[in-house]
Amino acid sequence: MSEVEESLAEPRQAFKSGSTRSVSWRKSQLRAIINLVQDNEEDIFKALYQDLGKHPVECYRDEVGTVLKSARYSLSCVEKWMAPKKGRLPLVFFPSSGELISEPLGVVLIFASWNFPISLALDPLIGAVSAGNTAVLKPSELAPACSSFLANTIPRYLDCRAIKVIRGGADVGDRLLQQKWDKIFFTGSPRVGRIVMLAAARHLTPVTLELGGKCPTILDNLSSPSDIKIAVKRIVGAKWGPCSGQACIGIDYVLVERKLAPTLIDLLKLTIKSFYGEEPRNSKNMCKIINKDHFERLRNLLEDPAVAASIVHGGSLHEKELFIEPSILLDPPLDAGIMMEEIFGPLLPIITLDNIQESIEFINSRPKPLVIYAFTKDESFKRQIVSETSSGSVTFNDTMVQFLCDDLPFGGVGQSGFGRYHGKYSFDTFSHEKAVMTRGFFPELEPRYPPWNHFKLQFIRLAYDFNYFGLLLLLLGLKR
Ligand code: NAD
Repeated sequence: MSEVEESLAEPRQAFKSGSTRSVSWRKSQLRAIINLVQDNEEDIFKALYQDLGKHPVECYRDEVGTVLKSARYSLSCVEKWMAPKKGRLPLVFFPSSGELISEPLGVVLIFASWNFPISLALDPLIGAVSAGNTAVLKPSELAPACSSFLANTIPRYLDCRAIKVIRGGADVGDRLLQQKWDKIFFTGSPRVGRIVMLAAARHLTPVTLELGGKCPTILDNLSSPSDIKIAVKRIVGAKWGPCSGQACIGIDYVLVERKLAPTLIDLLKLTIKSFYGEEPRNSKNMCKIINKDHFERLRNLLEDPAVAASIVHGGSLHEKELFIEPSILLDPPLDAGIMMEEIFGPLLPIITLDNIQESIEFINSRPKPLVIYAFTKDESFKRQIVSETSSGSVTFNDTMVQFLCDDLPFGGVGQSGFGRYHGKYSFDTFSHEKAVMTRGFFPELEPRYPPWNHFKLQFIRLAYDFNYFGLLLLLLGLKR
């Protein structure tokens, strides 16, 4: 048996034993995740620094804190989520009762990506164990320090028969995908998302795909200068703040009316300076690019001659440190790579429009994004954005914060993925809600059986119409 097959055998056995279904097992695993993160906070900071150069505050905000919040929330709610819910049944089936029972799916496979290598591994795992599943987790090979941290600590804290960590790259991912799983939860690129779906189709395995794309930000003409400053601060926070722009819910580009562009650029430059100093390269507050391949990918996007001419700020690259300066581009060609692919790095194109209303058509002419951000006080424009565009979510007048709300589902639509998680939505993602109906033996409704006649047809018609008075009259022989 290969390592991959072996990794699957124990969780399958553990699931079969039924032990993971109990509330006590689920709670013990959630407590274990909390302890793992709390006891090893310093090691997590170190691993994230090694892989990405993340500052400890950013590590806490985007990884440690989010995992603790999710695990504590699930711990406090899991019993309530597990409780059977009553299903309403039509009177025609009286006496009967209906229940909705959430059952675990079985053994689930979780693929994590490298940009938030701790939280994007542990957050889905919180959902999987809350719902009573066993799991195999494959962290990303591109964040090796975090991946080895997870491989070393998870078996020490969690039930090691039920939860396995398998390290490796695309080859290991491919071997894992050849196995039969009860659910695959994938965070990564649309390219690999397609590979995952194809593999899952062989076994009819359900999948959740948390993918990426280009998240636009619409900046309307906010009348108050202090509101514009706050909007720009939030834009800078979401473009360069999380992982130096290597974030799926980070801002990809900004749409703004032409006349507002100079003010926006001036404020962006000032804000970048206030966050990262005169020389962002020396700042401890910006992450590095994950590896040489991604650095080269971003270099190609930026150094395309047609694009380079549009740089209005930044643009310098430092290969040795894998650092790219926060860069702003004004109206790069719309058919250039930078406007066709997800940027996933510290480059911000600003696209100017004659009228901000055109932003809706602009967004609709591209694949459906994971998030649309819009800064506007115009209520009818807000309604128009919500009703006339499609995206995983919409956030007005702020950035990234939607990700932190357990009661809002997180997930994409179309090219940005499908399925959703966080809070109760994670529990549902890893559960099957089973309908259970129990009937009494009396009365027996003969009209449901042949031989058919006109009376039975009338009976069935009235039953489907929920016309109980008509049914009564029919049974009493008063309705023909
Ligand atoms: P990726 O698709 O390259 O890799 C994701 C995972 O798939 C990794 O574990 C990797 O080892 C594995 N993998 C890669 N090639 C494979 C193959 N051929 N067969 C099987 N497995 C394979 O993505 P990435 O570079 O880790 O992450 C970047 C992408 O993820 C971006 O598009 C970003 O927007 C997206 N993302 C989405 C979210 C979200 O929550 N929606 C979060 C983070 C990142």
